[in-house]
Amino acid sequence: MKLTVLGCYGPYPKAKGACSGYLLEDMDTKILIDCGNGVISKYFAHCGDLNILDAILISHLHPDHMSDLMVLRYAIAIGQMEGRVKKSIDLYLPSSPREEYERIPYKEAFNRHIIDDGMRIEIKGIKITFFRTNHPIECYGMIFDKGIKKFVYSGDTKYFPELNDYVKKCDLFLCEGGFLEANRKDDTPHLSALQAAEIAQKVSLKRLILTHIYPPVKVVNLYEEAREIFPNIIEIAEEGKTYYI
Ligand SMILES: [Zn+2]
Ligand SMILES: [Zn+2]
Repeated sequence: MKLTVLGCYGPYPKAKGACSGYLLEDMDTKILIDCGNGVISKYFAHCGDLNILDAILISHLHPDHMSDLMVLRYAIAIGQMEGRVKKSIDLYLPSSPREEYERIPYKEAFNRHIIDDGMRIEIKGIKITFFRTNHPIECYGMIFDKGIKKFVYSGDTKYFPELNDYVKKCDLFLCEGGFLEANRKDDTPHLSALQAAEIAQKVSLKRLILTHIYPPVKVVNLYEEAREIFPNIIEIAEEGKTYYI
């Protein structure tokens, strides 16, 4: 499998950047994980075509993870009318907050599938398990298994102990950790770089990529904060970069 970062900022993008969006590929399989603002432009730059996209998985319905669905639906539905797009796209997402969920459908753009805690699906040989995270709205992390390879995406979350079990033995953990511990308050619904590194260290991971970067933060400071805790491979998500799993 390989993962290309289309967008890595949150809860808003920096200049020329995009919010959360990651393209997971395996041979001819393409799965878009989250679809924040700016992601569809980057998807077109990377792939050019919607017909080759197998599914979209949305961790939660905060705008920095789903707002480009609202324009992608036009690209799909108009493309269908004009014969360029040959299918509806499978869209996996939580069903709350209800008003956000209800706003998303448009003509035949999407086949919607509601995510539940512990739900398992399979897309062209990639097994995917969803797990509920600790965030102000319903949010899911995702575990991807293909052969002997395992990749985990944290979604948005504050720390909760079960997260350690979900990421055990994974080859790559894409974890939010885009701000510094000094700026974290008790009610911050996100992980700091230090907390992400602590999880990775506790379960002896091989490789950690920090994402959901808060635009004002200096990337080098995130790296240094995580480096003090976690001795193995740490990277900070970079838009346009592909990571092999
Ligand atoms: Zn977010
Ligand atoms: Zn969120």
